[in-house]
Formats: sequence, structure tokens, C-alpha cells
Amino acid sequence: MQNYIDGAMVAPVSGDYLDNYEPATGQVYSLIPDSDQRDVDLAVAAAARAFPEWSTWGEQRRYECLMRVAELIAERREELARAESIDTGKPEKLAYEVDIYRAEANFRFFATAILHFSSESHRMEGQAINYTLRQPIGVVGCISPWNLPLYLFTWKIAPALAAGNCVVAKPSELTPMTAYLLGQICIDAGMPPGVLNIVHGLGGKAGQAIVAHPLTKAISFTGGTATGRQLAATAAPMFKKLSLELGGKNPVLVFADCDIEQALQTTLRSSFSNNGQICLCGSRVYVERSIYNEFRDELVRRTSQLVVGDPAHPGTNQGALVSAAHLDKVSSYLQLAREEGGTVLTGGERVHLPGRLEGGYFIRPAIVEGLPLQCRTNQEEIFGPVITLQPFDTDEEALALANGTDYGLAATVWTQHLGRAQRLAEHLQFGIVWINCWMLRDLRTPFGGVKHSGVGREGGVEALRFFTEPKNVCVKWG
Ligand code: NDP
Repeated sequence: MQNYIDGAMVAPVSGDYLDNYEPATGQVYSLIPDSDQRDVDLAVAAAARAFPEWSTWGEQRRYECLMRVAELIAERREELARAESIDTGKPEKLAYEVDIYRAEANFRFFATAILHFSSESHRMEGQAINYTLRQPIGVVGCISPWNLPLYLFTWKIAPALAAGNCVVAKPSELTPMTAYLLGQICIDAGMPPGVLNIVHGLGGKAGQAIVAHPLTKAISFTGGTATGRQLAATAAPMFKKLSLELGGKNPVLVFADCDIEQALQTTLRSSFSNNGQICLCGSRVYVERSIYNEFRDELVRRTSQLVVGDPAHPGTNQGALVSAAHLDKVSSYLQLAREEGGTVLTGGERVHLPGRLEGGYFIRPAIVEGLPLQCRTNQEEIFGPVITLQPFDTDEEALALANGTDYGLAATVWTQHLGRAQRLAEHLQFGIVWINCWMLRDLRTPFGGVKHSGVGREGGVEALRFFTEPKNVCVKWG
């Protein structure tokens, strides 16, 4: 792969490359630029050169350009889904139906949203009119993680570009392939050089250089909480605008009055979709005691039937974890759960598939029971196919369990009792509360977490506000 800088595919200045592993085989299948400060300097310079023209193109022309990108993503959906599956280890079907579809939708959504974006005006009676200009910021940095590579990459890039900024972006070095293909798509779509620049490489080197560069005036980051903290330490003294979408330890509350079949089906998905490697996955499942045994036994049964297999095969539910290091991390948390007194009800074993998949990072999805809230297994983000299960007796207890970690990304509540649902929604300390559903979201709504799950909001008008600088103009009556 190459970096996409100033409208062209270019080699890293150092000439150095990193191995890119296919998680399903454990084999190196491509090489990615090991970019450093010099590549980031070139990318930022190209973006700064492109900014005056791109920011004054007008919304209509930017809309047309971004819609061409969306159309090319749609045309190449199969190729992109295959690439993403090879890169991440996730089932190709999932990549096709969720990730690539959503990447296209992100471009369409923000291309059209900018046509309807408006700013405020405030009348001071008899004295003056104030109006707010919302202007693009300039060069902005977008850094995204490996779990939903193209989905999250485009979720940042599309609003930044739509609002008139030029972007220097870095995908995770673990899953760079679809970002690389996006660069080619931008060339084919006729996007002017320098408007979007994609620099590959390590977070601590290329990513850090983007955050520390004096000309990147805003940083939109999605990733782990520890990395977010580090990023903020670099960016805050430079007074950069920051949007941080970080980790989660999301609770699922299942009440006895819920539609149990719906709750079971969706909890299976919210626990193990993409191998639990979605920031919004529910990883702590609390069930009202009167239905606990029934719910647990059925969830365990269905979990044990999930097919762990070749990501390219349409019948596969669970592909490979993203890397050997991540497999070790997930396995170590299962060991910890046992040491903390938990019982593994199902899963957790490494799966060895035959043939070319022999070295792949496969593991059976696991359910652990019998752990207190305060133990590390229930407090730390595992980000893999491991959930904990526990009964509760009252609404107050359920709420305390749900709110009892440092994270605050998303919570799910299963109940048919409208009053209970609304009361809980008021008191759950999370950026998103799902009632009787999961992962259902209108792109116009603000997205993001509270507490250690992040600051700032993405999605809809919030993203366009983040990527613009408000300037108030006050005109006194003549
Ligand atoms: P990381 O925090 O490890 O990395 C995220 C990105 O930041 C990667 O591109 C990484 O590069 C880069 N990076 C790492 N260090 C630095 C640095 N010092 N300066 C700048 N950039 C850096 O997260 P993961 O990739 O492991 O992703 C998983 C995490 O993301 C989980 O915690 C998950 O909850 C969170 N997440 C949050 C979401 C949300 O919306 N709240 C959505 C999806 C995931 P490299 O990969 O090369 O190290």
C-alpha cells in the first residue's frame, strides 16, 4: 500500500513498510507505509494548499464531489467488503451488510446534510442583529480504530470535508486496506488533490505527528480511552478542538416483563457481533432474577451454536479476532475472570481451523457468571467476545449496576413497561440508551459517550458544528 497525499499514491519518505497480517491465517498479506513526521508534514502542507479553494467551492460542488465518492463505494461494495474481511478477520457478509453500506451512507448523509446546514441569528430588540458565521476550520486530523475501519474512518472524514475542511487522516495500522482503497476512490471521483490525505502507519509515530502538528486545528479521534487521554495531553496545550470517542463497558438490563425472544435474539447480537469488537456491544448483561435461569440457559445454548469459521464463508457467525496480541488480551481476561471467581458457562477456547486457517486468531464466544461489579473483568473493557451475566432484584439495583463503571457509552434496556423505560433512560449515565433494541440509530442524532467514554458528540448537525468555527457578527442598527 501507499500513502494518499496531494492526490497521488506515494511511498513513505523513509521507504520503510510494516507487515500487515491477515487475522484468519496469521500470515502477512500486504505491506503498509511506516510513515513518520515527514510524511505527515507533506500531507498537512498539501491539505493547507488545497484549503482555500475547497472551502470556497460552495456546498453544492462539495456535495457533488462527495456523492461521487459514495457512488463509487456503492459500485465497489463487494471488493471493499472482501478487503475489509481479509484485513479484520470479520465475516465478509457482515462487512458487506454493515460496514461498507454504512461507509457509503456516511458520505451520502453528510454530502446532503451540508446543503441544509444553517446558522443562528439573534435579534437584540431595537439595537442590533447578531448572526453566527460557521466557517470551516482549515486542516483537521481524523484518527480511527481497527474494529469498523471504513465505517468509522468515513464517519469522521465525510463531515469534515462536507463542512469545507481539508483532512489528514490515519486508519489503524492493523486494518488499513479499505482506507487505502478509499484513496483510490477519491482519485477516481475527481476529488481535488490535497483535500483528503491518508497517511498510514503507527499510532505513536504517524498518529502522534498528526495530533502534534501546529496546523491541524481540530482532531477527531475514535479509539481506546488510554490513547484518548494521551492524545488530549498533546492537543489540549495547543488549544485544539477535540472530539474523543472512546471505550465502553456497556450494560444490558433485561426485565422480566420484556419480550424474552426479542431480548435473547438481540442480546446474542449485541454481545458477539463482530466478535464483540464494537464499542457499543453490551458486555455486562443483568437479568431480573425471576427469569434469570431461563434467559441464561437459552443464551448459553444459542451462544454455543454460533459458528466460528472462515470469514469468507456465508454461514460463518464469528470470524477471527483482529490480531495475535488481541487474542492474547481476550484470553488473559478469561483467565482473570476465573481467578476472580467467575464460572465460564460456555466458550473461551481457542479454535484451530484446518488448512490455510490453521494459524488464524479464532476463539469461541464466552459467557461468564458469578462476578461482582467491582472486579476487573466487570470494570475494564475487554473488547472481545466475552460477556458477564448476573441477576438483579430491583430497578434501583439494576440502575446501580449499570452506572457502576467509569464508562458511559451505551446502555440497553429490555422492558415493556413504558414508565420504567423512561425513568431508567433519565438516570442511566450514558450517551445512548436503547429501549428494546440495539445499534438502531438515526444518523441525525448526536452520538458519543460520557464519563471515560469520551467528550464531544458526532453525528448529524453536531459533527458539522464540530468541524466549523462559529464567529459572531453583531450589526448595530444604523
Ligand atoms: P487505539 O486507541 O489503540 O487506536 C486508535 C487509533 O489511534 C489507531 O489508528 C491508532 O493507531 C491511533 N493511535 C494510537 N496511539 C496514538 C497516539 N499516541 N497519537 C495518535 N494516534 C494514536 O484503539 P484501537 O484501534 O485498539 O480500537 C479499539 C478501541 O476503540 C476500543 O477501546 C473501543 O471501545 C474504541 N472505540 C470507540 C468507539 C466509539 O465510538 N466510542 C467506536 C469504536 C471503537 P495504531 O492502530 O497504529 O496504533
